[in-house]
Amino acid sequence: IGDSEANPDSMENHGSRPEVIAALARTTGFAVRKSFTLNLPMLYVALPQKQRDSVVAIVRAAVPLTAMAEIISSVHRHILIAAVLLALIGALFAWAASRMVSRPIETIAARALLVAGKPALPAHKNGGEVGQLADALDSMASRLTAQLAQITRQKNEQEAVLASMVEGVVALDAEEKIIQLNRAAAMLLNLDPQKAYGKWLSEIIRNSELLAFIARTFKTETITEGDLVLNGPGQQQRFVQVHGSALRATDGTRLGALIVLNDITRLKRLETIRRDFVANVSHELKTPLTSIKGFVETVLNDPDMPAPEARRMLTIVNEQSDRINAIIDDLLSLARLEQDSQQGEIVRESTALKVLAQRAIAACAALAAKKSMRLTLEAAQDFVATVNASLLEEALVNLIDNAVKYSEPGRAVAIAVGGDENENTIAVTDEGIGIPQQHLDRLCERFYRVDKARSRDSGGTGLGLSIVKHIMLVHGGCVSIVSAPGKGSTFTLHLPRRAAGSVS
Ligand code: ADP
Repeated sequence: IGDSEANPDSMENHGSRPEVIAALARTTGFAVRKSFTLNLPMLYVALPQKQRDSVVAIVRAAVPLTAMAEIISSVHRHILIAAVLLALIGALFAWAASRMVSRPIETIAARALLVAGKPALPAHKNGGEVGQLADALDSMASRLTAQLAQITRQKNEQEAVLASMVEGVVALDAEEKIIQLNRAAAMLLNLDPQKAYGKWLSEIIRNSELLAFIARTFKTETITEGDLVLNGPGQQQRFVQVHGSALRATDGTRLGALIVLNDITRLKRLETIRRDFVANVSHELKTPLTSIKGFVETVLNDPDMPAPEARRMLTIVNEQSDRINAIIDDLLSLARLEQDSQQGEIVRESTALKVLAQRAIAACAALAAKKSMRLTLEAAQDFVATVNASLLEEALVNLIDNAVKYSEPGRAVAIAVGGDENENTIAVTDEGIGIPQQHLDRLCERFYRVDKARSRDSGGTGLGLSIVKHIMLVHGGCVSIVSAPGKGSTFTLHLPRRAAGSVS
């Protein structure tokens, strides 16, 4: 019917155009093609005009595609500008955000490096700050692991040193609470180390002397020293030398106090033994000396003394000098024994014990004969032991000598050599006066006598059994005594087979 650009009369039938066909089919038709009329690429849209459900006309509009292309390219331009702007703003935000995150990461990495003890790490190839942080944390972790291992090792070493110390060590903090306590200290103070940690010393120790000593240590800057008596395990008395000093940190600040306990019980005991020994020796020598002096003075002051009386007195002087001689001989023999055993100069040889016993019996035969006593020997086998024959003979002579001395005349003394797989024994049994039970433990002490007067009368020095004991110790053995007062005694020398050759 009409066209805005050309005369419809000169135009061909448009009924075959695809958009028109679509419109005839009652839909909106679209098509893009080159217009024959205008010879331009065009966009066509055809709409059907309907009346009572039938298409009565079709309206078709056409726009050259060049105009469309312009509109589209203008839209593209706008989109591009907006995209660039958005990208720029986005980049700005991303940079700001990354700075916000990377700063703390850099700080953490720097601190981690400080802990790791490294000045800086080379820039990480791929990971940037996060990668560097990971590297720094790695270095820190390995350094911490190494340090932890070192600290654990040092702690173990320190504990081993403290545990192996003979001295007791107690470390207290400023509040007097226990922070360290070694095994020796726990033993001396009779404490359970596990329960003692973190406790106040005054809470678990009742010894007022020790508590006063510790209080003194806390008050002074110098080292405090003292001697104390502690009640050890089983209420055994222990003599302890205590040293107290301030416990300081490396920078010199005072952390508490360190108490070192030195068990001097053995030293004290040795000191007592030595003192007693000196007193005993002096006393033993003084008695005969006083007697000698008395008789000599009497003889000197009485020039008219009849010769038989002077002779009687000089005989006593002679006896007393023999006594002094015997004591000195025994003391020297003991001293030599101790010295030789300490220096390992005791020579041992394979010895037939029966022969050795026969020699000892022969040495005592004269003394026994004087008291009409019989010495018998019994040896089941010919036992052989590695011993110092002259020392063992001396011990046996001492025992036989005692058996004769402390028996009434006419009694028998039996010497028996025996043994089993563990030891060899030589027993001396008498039918003498016997020894009350309460004396048995101390019988081998120097100068110990059950009956002083009787011992002196029979020429005893009080050293015989202690010499026997020492000879047995040198052989790694001992002496055992079984006795019943009025019935007799058996003294047995024990020579262990396995210890033969070792000095104890
Ligand atoms: P002593 O020189 O006095 O005999 P010992 O050391 O040999 O010294 O003996 C110590 C004490 O043991 C003697 O004084 C004596 O009291 C007692 N004793 C030793 N052997 C016997 C024994 N066989 N029977 C009774 N008592 C003995």
